[in-house]
Amino acid sequence: AKDDGRNLIRFFSEAMQAVVAARAELELKLRAALACNGFRLYYQPQLDRNGRVIGAEALIRCFDAEGEMISPAAFIPLAEETGLIVPIGEWVLETACAQLRAWQRTPSTAGLSLSINVSARQFHQPDFVGKVAAAIERHRIRPGGLEIELTESVVIGDIETTVLRMRQIKALGVRFALDDFGTGYSSLSYLKRLPFDQLKIDQMFVRDMEKDTSSEAIVRAILALSRSLDLKVVAEGVETAAQHELLLTRGCELFQGYLFGRPVPIEDWKAG
Ligand code: C2E
Ligand code: CA
Ligand code: CA
Ligand code: CA
Repeated sequence: AKDDGRNLIRFFSEAMQAVVAARAELELKLRAALACNGFRLYYQPQLDRNGRVIGAEALIRCFDAEGEMISPAAFIPLAEETGLIVPIGEWVLETACAQLRAWQRTPSTAGLSLSINVSARQFHQPDFVGKVAAAIERHRIRPGGLEIELTESVVIGDIETTVLRMRQIKALGVRFALDDFGTGYSSLSYLKRLPFDQLKIDQMFVRDMEKDTSSEAIVRAILALSRSLDLKVVAEGVETAAQHELLLTRGCELFQGYLFGRPVPIEDWKAG
C-alpha cells in the first residue's frame, strides 16, 4: 500500500510536470508567432435575411515554426493568463483595420462590416480607446464598418467603468456586439446597461434548437427581447438549412455558420 501511494504521487507529479511543460511550450510558440509573423486572421461571412454577405468576423489562427496550426480555443486562454493577449490583440486590431480599409476602397466591398474579438484584459488596458482611435486614423477607415465583439466577462468589478469605456469607443463610431449571448449568468441585467448594438446567440442554442424545446424557447426569447431593446441578433453556428429556416421564421436578422462559409484566409475570401 505504501508503494501504491508513492506510485500515485509520482504519477501525479509527472502528469503535472507534463502540463507545465506543455503550457511553457505553447507560451514559447505564441512569443515566436508574435516575433515571426505567425498569426493569421481568417474571415467568416455574416449574411442578412436575403442571403447577402454583409460582413465578416475575423478569427485568429496561430502557426508554429513547423507550419502547424494552433486553434484559438487552445491558445487564447493561456494568452489571457500571460498577458500576451494584449500584443496579440493589438496585432488583430491592426490587421483587421488594414483589411477593412482595403474593402472600403473597393466599391463592391465598401459596405462590408468587420467584427473583431476583444478580450476583457485587452479592453481594459488604459490606452485601449487611444489604440482604437489611432488605428482608425492610421488606416483612414470609416469607423462604422468596425465592430467589436465582447463577452459578458468584459465587466470586471464596477460596471460603470465598462459602460464609460464603451461609450468612448462608440463616440468614435465603432459598434459593439455581445458575443456568446445566453451562456453567462447576468446577461439580462448587463444587456440593459451596456450600450451594445447587436447580440450573438451562442451556437450551443442554435445547435440544440431542433431537438431540444428549451433551446428553441431560449432562441425565441432572445429574439423577442432584442426586438424590444432594438438590438440586432446574429445567430452563430448555423450548420443546416433547417436551422436557418427556423431562425428566419423566428425573425432572426443575421446569420453566421458553416452552412454559409467557414472561416477562410483572405486569399480565399470571395463575397457576394
Ligand atoms: P467565437 O468568437 O464564439 O467564434 C465563433 C467560433 O465558432 C469560431 O471558432 C468559428 O470558427 C466557429 N464556428 C463558426 N461557424 C460554426 C459552425 O457552423 N459550427 C461550428 N461548430 N463552429 C462554428 P474559432 O475560430 O476556433 O474561435 C474560437 C474562439 O476563440 C472564438 O469564439 C473567440 O472566443 C476566440 N477568438 C478567436 N479569434 C480571436 C481573437 O482575435 N481575439 C480574441 N480575444 N479571441 C479570439
Ligand atoms: Ca466572436
Ligand atoms: Ca460566439
Ligand atoms: Ca465563444
